[in-house]
Amino acid sequence: MTPIATVQRKKTLHDIPSAELAGKRVVVRVDFNVPMNGAEITDDTRIRAALKTIQYLIKNHAKIILLSHLGRPKGTVQESLRLTPIARHLSTLLNQRILKNDDCIGPEVEAPISQLQNGEVILLENTRFHVEETDNNPEFAKKLAQLGDLFVNDAFGVSHRADASISGITNYLPAVAGFLVEEELSILTKVLNTPERPLISIIGGAKISSKFGVLQNILGRVDTLIIGGGMSFTLLKAQGYEIGKSLYEPDLLEAAKTFLENAKKSTTKLILPLDHIVVATFDNNAPQQTVDTENIPKDQMGVDVGPKTIAAIEAEIQTAKTIVWNGPLGVFEMDNFAHGTLEVAHMLAKSDAFTLIGGGDSAAAIAKANVTNQMSYISTGGGATLEFLEGKQLPGITSLQNLENPE
Ligand code: ADP
Ligand code: MG
Repeated sequence: MTPIATVQRKKTLHDIPSAELAGKRVVVRVDFNVPMNGAEITDDTRIRAALKTIQYLIKNHAKIILLSHLGRPKGTVQESLRLTPIARHLSTLLNQRILKNDDCIGPEVEAPISQLQNGEVILLENTRFHVEETDNNPEFAKKLAQLGDLFVNDAFGVSHRADASISGITNYLPAVAGFLVEEELSILTKVLNTPERPLISIIGGAKISSKFGVLQNILGRVDTLIIGGGMSFTLLKAQGYEIGKSLYEPDLLEAAKTFLENAKKSTTKLILPLDHIVVATFDNNAPQQTVDTENIPKDQMGVDVGPKTIAAIEAEIQTAKTIVWNGPLGVFEMDNFAHGTLEVAHMLAKSDAFTLIGGGDSAAAIAKANVTNQMSYISTGGGATLEFLEGKQLPGITSLQNLENPE
C-alpha cells in the first residue's frame, strides 16, 4: 500500500547537537491560539503542548523568541486579542519571567531581543495583527526571520496554513520541527502507514463536505470504517433511505453514491448507523424516539445514534488494535443527544487498542466523558490533522529541512 503522506523524515530539534543551541536566537512558532473568555484562558492545552520544546531550549541556553497568532484580527490591532494574558500564564507554567512585546517585527522588537540573555524567553505580539501574516508576504517573513538564527515550527495546529510565520519564514532561516510537531507526525504517520491491525476509524461530525476527503483517503486503508453523526445522513439518503429533516448536503449526493460504490469494492468494511434517536425540533427537551434507519419519520431529524448502532460499534472496538476517532456521533453539546458519543468515548477508554483522537469537538466530547487521560493520543491539530489524514502535504511541514541521512 502506498504511504499516505510525507515519509521524507524532517529535521527536528533532536537532530541539532544541543551544544549548538547555546546563545542562539531561536524563533519558535507555537500555537497559542487558545480559547479565551475576556482575559481568562479557558483551556490551556495548546500552551502546555509547547512546553517540552520551550523547556528544552531553556535548558540548552538558547535565546527563545516565541511567535503565535490568536483569533482572527485580520490585519488590525485588537486589544482583546493581545497575547499579554498568555505571556502571564506561560510564566506561571515555566516558573520564570517571560518578556512580552507589543509587536512582532521592527526596532521595538529588535532592541529587547538584542538584550536577551541565554535561557530567556520573549513572546512577541499576535502575528495576525499584520495582514502580511496570512498573505504570506515575503518581506514580512524576512523581517520575522531576521529576529533569529534558527526557526522551529512547533505549531502543528497551524501547519496546514501557508502563513508567513509558518512557511514564508523558512525561506530565510534554517527550519526544523519542534517536539510537538515531531510527535504528531510520528504518531499520525505510524497509525496510517504501519498500524497494528485491525485498524478501525470512527468518523462523525456535522458536515460530510468537511471530511469527504478524509473518507475517500482512508477507504481501503482501514479495516473498518464507521460513519455516524450528521454526516451519515447524506450517505443514507444516497442509499435511498428517507432521512426526514436530518442534516443533508444535496451537493454531495452524487459523490456519496460514488463513495458507496467504491466502498463495496474496497477491502474496508463500511458501517453506517443502523438506528437513530430522532426528534421533531432541534431542542434538548424535545420528545425522543428510537427508530431503525428504515423508519425515520419524514418530520423528524436524527440527533444521535441508537442502541443497535452502539452495539455494532462496540463489537468492532473489542477486536481493534488501533482506533482513530474524529467527529462526534450526535449533537453531544446537548445532554440528551450525547449518549452515543459518550458511550463510545467510554468504550475507547476501556479498550487496549492504540486510541488516536483528532478534532476539536471530538476532544471536547472526550473531556465531557471524563476520559481524556485514558486516550493514547489526542492530536492538537483540527484542520491540520484532517488534512494530514486526507493525504495532503502541509505547507508548514514540507518547508522544513529534510534529514539528509535518515537511518
Ligand atoms: P471535530 O471538531 O471533532 O472534527 P466536527 O466539527 O466535524 O467535529 O463536528 C462536530 C459537530 O457535529 C458538533 O457540533 C455536533 O453537534 C455535530 N453533529 C453531530 N451529529 C449531528 C447530527 N446528527 N445532526 C447535527 N449535528 C450533528
Ligand atoms: Mg469541529
